[in-house]
Amino acid sequence: MSPNWPRFRKQMGQWLLGMIVTQYGWSAGEAVIATSQPLAAEAGAWALERGGDAVDAAAAIQFALNVVEPQSSGIGGGAFFLVYRAATHQVYALDAREVAPRDDTPDQFSHLGYLEASTSGIAVGVPGTLAGVEALRQRWGRLTLAQSLQPAIDDAQKGIVITPYLAHSLQSSRAALQPEALALTRDVQGQVRTLGQRWIQPELAHTLRLIARAGPKVFYQGEIARAMVTAQRRTRAGPAGQGRMSLEDLAHYQPVWRTPLEGEYRGYRIVTMPPPSSGGVAVLQALQTLAPFKLGTLPGLGAGDPDEIHLTIEALRLAMADRARWLGDPAATPIPLEHLLSPFYLAQQSQRLERKKRMGDMLSGTWPEGTNTTQFTVVDHEGNVVSVTSTVEAPWGSGILVPGYGFFLNSELTDFNLKPQAGAGDPGANDVRPQCRPRSSMAPTLVFKDGQWISAYGSPGGVSIISTVLEMSQDFLDEALTPEAALRLPRYAVMDAQGHTLVEKTLAPAVVDQLRARGHDVTVSEIPLGSVQWVGENPQTHERLGVADQRRDGTVIRLLP
Ligand code: GLU
Repeated sequence: MSPNWPRFRKQMGQWLLGMIVTQYGWSAGEAVIATSQPLAAEAGAWALERGGDAVDAAAAIQFALNVVEPQSSGIGGGAFFLVYRAATHQVYALDAREVAPRDDTPDQFSHLGYLEASTSGIAVGVPGTLAGVEALRQRWGRLTLAQSLQPAIDDAQKGIVITPYLAHSLQSSRAALQPEALALTRDVQGQVRTLGQRWIQPELAHTLRLIARAGPKVFYQGEIARAMVTAQRRTRAGPAGQGRMSLEDLAHYQPVWRTPLEGEYRGYRIVTMPPPSSGGVAVLQALQTLAPFKLGTLPGLGAGDPDEIHLTIEALRLAMADRARWLGDPAATPIPLEHLLSPFYLAQQSQRLERKKRMGDMLSGTWPEGTNTTQFTVVDHEGNVVSVTSTVEAPWGSGILVPGYGFFLNSELTDFNLKPQAGAGDPGANDVRPQCRPRSSMAPTLVFKDGQWISAYGSPGGVSIISTVLEMSQDFLDEALTPEAALRLPRYAVMDAQGHTLVEKTLAPAVVDQLRARGHDVTVSEIPLGSVQWVGENPQTHERLGVADQRRDGTVIRLLP
């Protein structure tokens, strides 16, 4: 991050101020924002400074991210929100995931390759992010929708400076598949826009202003809805690739309040996202499967130790096998959650693990998934917390920019099974079903100790989210690492039940060799894994902290009480 950028300097100034004041004894009541992009954090601070609640900050961050990190999330996509209300100690989970249109069918991807399917309208789910933000605002918001949109409108209208992660993403071929996207992501000479250049998005500013004036109705039932329906007829796969979303699908979109998923681990209460995410289930399963190995704190088990990584890979493989068979939208097939999370079942699973030896082969792998998306996390002055994972699935979603409106449509429906699996005892839990939601891995998570909230985090990264959130949980709860130290550790990610494992380049080659010697299928990833945005509170001092991942343009802002 170049220190010459004036807005960034201002941000660093705010951050440093927060640090200094902490040293001089302020302990409670700070608001903290962690996002993967500096201007998004500023948008959240803008909302809080105007008396907004954490949900107002989350709304402002989400709209700003649509402008400054459009490759990862936006109104054309979907999101999961986990909300903790300090006054009542209640946690709420809001599912604003995309939904399959009514005319979708289980075999709609069967004859299409992943790339052509995911860059055609057939991959576009009915977007949920705007409806989700609105549901949160209606329940707890203090600012108007127009206020929450203001920082994003300003960023889109006046332009933003391209940050390193955006510059990297702009090079993706998906940003240039359609003429409108090409025009947006290239400069006047037709060159890919680069780091440090100013980027204005007048069409997106227009869209956000329309929403500010007319409310979400213009998006779900008005001119924007009509434009989306037309845009998702775009196909790179012939007529079979045309989207089937109708005006009726858009008009009926509803986010769903769900009962959060909870687990106990070493005296901590972990609250995370339930299905249609598989993320929370898999993280809780893997933690419990590993628990017997942790209780005696055996030597050689600790962050980065080969035995620890080996066992974690094995526990994740078991979770991935369950995920492939049982996880999907609960509206589609019953999910045996009680069994999957029962202490008895997980104790049995633990017994399958061997400290030095890899288990035999299990179920086949899962389908390709993005390594994109975004996580942001906020605690406001009153201690209300919002942890959000928000996505358009692949980078730039489907690559379809809604003409005249300047935002990208998601490719979320490729998170369904691309080939139907139902039959021969398989429930086909994640087969495409009309009006159902594709299985996700996104796992915004909250941790409590003795009834007190202590941390909130999550990560992007498709199926690798599960490993990243698990590793962060282990680092905090088993190792008591500081969040800074936890974020710096090399990551690894189990991608399927066979155990195909990605590792970051920073993982020591000797450790990689030891894993391979035990038969693990390890690939060194070209790109970093995940991007964790964490905020938390020290239960003794009530000091609040935030940490943002430097794998992207992570930024923390702390606001004094
Ligand atoms: N679509 C993925 C999911 O819901 C997220 C994609 C990503 O993180 O890149 O799990």
